Parts: sequence; structure tokens; C-alpha cells
Amino acid sequence: MILHLDMDAFFASIEQAINPRLKGKPLVVGSRGSKMQTVVCAASYEAKALGIHSGMPSREAFAICPDLEFVAADQAKYIWTSEQIFSLIKGYDLPLNYASIDEFQMDLSGCENPVSLGKEVKEKIYANFNITASVGIAKNWLLAKLASKLNKPNGLTLIDDSNLEQVLRMAPLDKLCGMGGKNGQIFMAQGLKTCWDLYLNLPGLFNDNQSKFNENSGKSNEKPKSISHSYTLPKLHINPQVIRAWIRLLSEMVSTRLRQQNLVSATVHLWLNGPEIGNFGAQKTYQNTTNDGYEICQRALKIMGKSGLKNPQVRAIGVTCSSLFWGTYQPLLSEEIRREGLIKALDRINNRFGEGSIHPAIIALTR
Ligand SMILES: [Mg+2]
Repeated sequence: MILHLDMDAFFASIEQAINPRLKGKPLVVGSRGSKMQTVVCAASYEAKALGIHSGMPSREAFAICPDLEFVAADQAKYIWTSEQIFSLIKGYDLPLNYASIDEFQMDLSGCENPVSLGKEVKEKIYANFNITASVGIAKNWLLAKLASKLNKPNGLTLIDDSNLEQVLRMAPLDKLCGMGGKNGQIFMAQGLKTCWDLYLNLPGLFNDNQSKFNENSGKSNEKPKSISHSYTLPKLHINPQVIRAWIRLLSEMVSTRLRQQNLVSATVHLWLNGPEIGNFGAQKTYQNTTNDGYEICQRALKIMGKSGLKNPQVRAIGVTCSSLFWGTYQPLLSEEIRREGLIKALDRINNRFGEGSIHPAIIALTR
């Protein structure tokens, strides 16, 4: 089992914990100090209740609530707290993964009572930092992360075989990691409304039982020749946006498996099937190897761009990575790598909430 720990309204909660005057009040943390000309990078639950959310221009937030409390983001403080939480849960001596500045994952394989451990972790964090966290427990990270979101704030949710269908039917698709943005909207426009609808289309995405991480997995296993995922669309498509969104998702799925097996790939192969094009397949080999889903997708899209295909009708899509090598990617074990992760997390926050930027939704799927 995997435990996914997600701090509730992390930056805002820290500010409220430090300054009791802000407790219980609608509060936003702005990415910059200029109150009216910034973007909300965190909203307290009191502000969320009014409809204020991350990514919203602060001017809009103040229009909703003129008495809104405002604090400029202090990243050093958040990084410090994140590190302290990481050290605290490191005390359990379980494999630990730093997922983002306010999200951590623990491998509970062998743990007798995951739910009571989850409770204990939450209590410890509250006792030490006076902030709450939501915990999700499930057989893999995707479901555990989804579970952590279902009963926020201060939630604890277990997804197991007995409630999987029930939970997925109740969970809107955009709750699933990577489905929050534009790509999620594209899938919803295809008629996929709940996580269960996606499950029926791509059961493999949810049924990955590989729960271990932080292991030198590859070493004892035999190296596969290639890793691929393909998908048959429910109907013919010529909409390039839909096709690109599926290529992106398949690339992320391939990249997840590459990383799980500690592999990097030099060759990307794209396969498309449709009535006019038959079986189109082309590949390209790069000097730089990768196991990054975004990069794999970019390479696949380049192949499509060079193919000369102009908005072909597509019925099925496949993404394959080959020329595999043992990679050096290790999920954040040493302090140094962890710091690098923090920097990347901050970069992502900046990219995500920077004015005018569009968050590539599916990229979050693997991070
Ligand atoms: Mg959070």
C-alpha cells in the first residue's frame, strides 16, 4: 500500500499557524508582494469557501472579499517547513518519496495497520506544526493521491478493492492527478465524466500494483526491450487536440513505467491507426535519453509533425520507448537531490501560477 500525504492549503496554513491573528480568516498568499497585481498561490479554507482559489488574479479575489487577508509568499519559510515535515516522517523508517513541496509518499508494504499509521502521521504533523494534512491510502500512488483529495481538509481515505468502484464512480475525472486542466476538459468532452469512466477505458492505469519505490529495482530484473502503451479511441477522431491529449497521457504512462524500472530511453516510436493512413508508424532516436513524460510526448508530437499527416482520422494511438538503458533517476533519496526537487517544485509553482502561463495539466501525472 502507498500512503499519500498532502498538506491542506499548505502556504496559507503555515501563515495562519505562525500568525494567530490570521486564523479562521479568509487569507490568500500572493506570489508577489503587490497585493492587487499578483496571483493567488494559496488560499486558506475560509477563502476557498468563498470561491477564491489558487491561480486566480488577486484583484478578482479582493473583488469577492474586500476584507481578505493578504500575505506575500515567503518561499524560504515553506521550504523549511516542508523539510521539517520530511524529517519527521522519515522517522518511520519506511521508503519515502518527496512528491512536491507539500506532498509526500510512503511505501507501507508490510505495515500491519495502514489506517492507524495514517492517523498517527496526521496527528504528529498537527502536534508539531499546527497545520493539517490529508492522507490517502491505496494500492498505488495514483489512487493514493486521489484518495488524499477526496475528504479534504484533514481527511483520511482508504481505497481498497472493496470500495474501488464506488469511490471511482463518485470521483469527478478532474480530481484525478493530471486531469485538472485543459486535458481533463478534453477527456470530459469525450464523455468521460468520472474516474470510473476512465477506469473502464484504461483499467491498467488504475490497476498498477507496483507499490514499491526507492528501490534499486532495475538491478535484479531483466531489462525489457521496449515499453509501450496504446489506446483505441471510442470513435474516429480528427480533432488534433484530442489526439495530442491522448498522446500526452500515453507518454506519461510509458514514462511512469520507465521510472519504476529505473530506465531511460533514447528512442520514441509513435503509432497511429486510421482508415486513410492505415498503420502509420515512425520513430526517432535521440542522443539524450529521457524518462520524462513531457519530453517523450514532445518527441512523439515531433514525429507526427514530420510525418506529413494533415489532421488524419485516427482510431488508435500507441507510444513506445525503446533503446532502453539503466537510468540514474532515483526518487529523491539524498539531501542534495531532495533540494533539487524542492527547487523544481518551486519552479513548477511559479510556472503554474505565473501570470499568463498555462499549466500543462497532464504533466502532474508523474510528479
Ligand atoms: Mg496540498
